[in-house]
Parts: sequence; structure tokens; C-alpha cells
Amino acid sequence: MQYIEKYPTPPQDWDRWFTKADGIRSFDYKKDYDALTNLRLAKRFLLNEQHGLCAYCQQVIPIENASIEHVTPKEHNVNLSTNYYNLVVVCKTQMKDSEGKVHCDKQRLSSLISPIIFYRNVDASTTKTNSYFGAYADGSVFAKPNLDEQTKKQVEAFIEILNLNHSRLKETRAKEVLDGINAIFIHLPPHQKRAFWQNQYNRILQNRSYPFRQFLLSYIGSKIGIN
Ligand SMILES: [Zn+2]
Repeated sequence: MQYIEKYPTPPQDWDRWFTKADGIRSFDYKKDYDALTNLRLAKRFLLNEQHGLCAYCQQVIPIENASIEHVTPKEHNVNLSTNYYNLVVVCKTQMKDSEGKVHCDKQRLSSLISPIIFYRNVDASTTKTNSYFGAYADGSVFAKPNLDEQTKKQVEAFIEILNLNHSRLKETRAKEVLDGINAIFIHLPPHQKRAFWQNQYNRILQNRSYPFRQFLLSYIGSKIGIN
């Protein structure tokens, strides 16, 4: 659930990264993985573009735990399978929640999702009143109630299909990122509380690599009336 801002043109070597040593373009690079010696460079490029965060859950992903993901699955449009504007990187996490479900692409498989991560409204920091996601103190995310009906359905489906409220994700957002900030907040005198949220908001806004950045910006933004 982070906004992925693509460059106006693909990187210069993009096509080469998806071409086998025999000069043939691969449209199923999972099958051709061993033959695609430069695929790792494409993955690294995409990970840098996303500031090291999973496109869906926004956890920090080291390159070893990242995989290239087709936002529109190749089962639906094979021509998009190596298209720069359709590819992102996501985590390989396969931990199951209490319902036996995982999250991100391992959960969605080839289901269709709306490509909302390419829309600016995903980013709580750029769209002050119409951002798509809200955040609760228990670590869960939700579609903003003020969205138009169609967008709201798309955002809800996005959360559901990718299982972005997986119990472990919720726990990590609440305990590992929110608790630390709240622990400082509760000990502040009343006159410093608002400035504290504002400072936290600015700090996280400036750090594009901050884990669960959009979740935190949505949560803190609601405290200071931004989102
Ligand atoms: Zn993920």
C-alpha cells in the first residue's frame, strides 16, 4: 500500500534484463530464471525505486527476500509480464495467520487487483483529504469511509485479496512501530503533544525507507487533522 512512482521511461537496460543469453525475450522468467542472468539487476532497480519497501505490505525487504511481482498477472495479459509499468517488488513472506492465510502476492496468487499503488491517492503524504487508506491503533488498515463507492470497493478488495490485515502484520505495525511512539507521547505534557505528532509526521514523511511508512503517516495524520 505504498504509492509507486514510475519514471517517465523504463531504465535503459530494461529489455536486456529480461532477455536470455540466446537473445530471446522471456515472458515467463520464472521458467527461464537460470537463463536470465541480469534479472537481479531489474529486481534491484525496482527495490531502489520503492525505497526498499514491499509494494503491498510496506515491510522492509532485503533483496534476498524480494520477488518481482506483476500487478496485472501474466495469466490476464502476457504482454504485461515484463512491462516496466506493471512490475514492482514484494516480500516473499509466507507466514500463516490464524486462518491459515499468508499475505501479499503469496496470498493473492493470480487474482486481479486494482492497480491502485500507481495512483497518488495511495500516498497519505501527497493527498491530504482523499487518501485511500486509514490506520487504526491496533495495527489494522481500512478503506477511508469518505471515498466514492467504486474506489472504496477497490481499496477494500485490495486489502482483502492481499490480506494486509494479516495478524502478524497488524501486530508488527502496532507493537514494533506504533508502541514506541505512543510510549513517548503519553509522558509528554499536554502543550507538547501536538508538536510531537507534527514532528513525528515530518520525520517519517522525509524518510522514504521508513518501515510501514504509509500506515504511520495515516495514523499520525489523523491525530493532527491531515488525513
Ligand atoms: Zn509484503
